[in-house]
Amino acid sequence: MSRKIFIKDNIEKLFEKIERALQKANSPQRKVKVVAISKTFPASDIYYAYECGISDFGENYVQEACKKMKELADAGIVWHFVGRIQSNKAKLITQNFEYIQSISSIEKLKLLEKFAQDHNRIVKGLIQVNIGRERTKDGVDPAEVINFYHEILKINPKWVQIQGLMIIPPPSEAPRRYFAELRKIRDSCIEKGIPENMVRELSMGMSDDFEIAIEEGATIIRIGRFIFGERPLKQNP
Ligand SMILES: *Cc1c(COP(=O)(O)O)cnc(C)c1O
Repeated sequence: MSRKIFIKDNIEKLFEKIERALQKANSPQRKVKVVAISKTFPASDIYYAYECGISDFGENYVQEACKKMKELADAGIVWHFVGRIQSNKAKLITQNFEYIQSISSIEKLKLLEKFAQDHNRIVKGLIQVNIGRERTKDGVDPAEVINFYHEILKINPKWVQIQGLMIIPPPSEAPRRYFAELRKIRDSCIEKGIPENMVRELSMGMSDDFEIAIEEGATIIRIGRFIFGERPLKQNP
């Protein structure tokens, strides 16, 4: 089977499963944005997925992403940064990505805001929450999300538009509780007066658990292997 047909079949299956999960969640009218996570896969694979109706792609490594962006410059792809934000890459990230899903500190947010303003460029941002409270992972502590929003409101960023929350839960047999917890955090932010447009998006759910995430309220799912197949063993440092 050609790579193109493999990817096309996977995307058709994915769209069907999303439809079914939305029916099950009783919200057939909710829009779920699919961000295809294309790390380690070549620009040609991205183009095949793009031809099947996927317009948003996510990458974790800036250099790797920028190479593919050059190859695909004319396609009109929306790029999401989902990796760890290193300060020395913040400028490249703001210059090249439309969405930055992994904002996890006020310092980084200020840095992104500065570069976005310098480049006269509006970017969309999500706050990464460390939902599994893992010491090795980036992200705002779940108990601190409301305070984090209050800090954001003080800075009042104009170039980085904060639109919601993102999680990368630890591997788990029972991921539902993490998705449900993020939804509760979002709801309590709204109750406590955080503007709804700053907490609207919930980016949660990957290849193994996106249906559960959709049932729990995901508006953005990040899908790698389900579309592109297994990744080759780690290439990046
Ligand atoms: C790799 C990755 C994904 C996609 O994972 P799959 O299990 O391949 O769907 C989603 N989000 C982030 C942040 C990733 O690094």
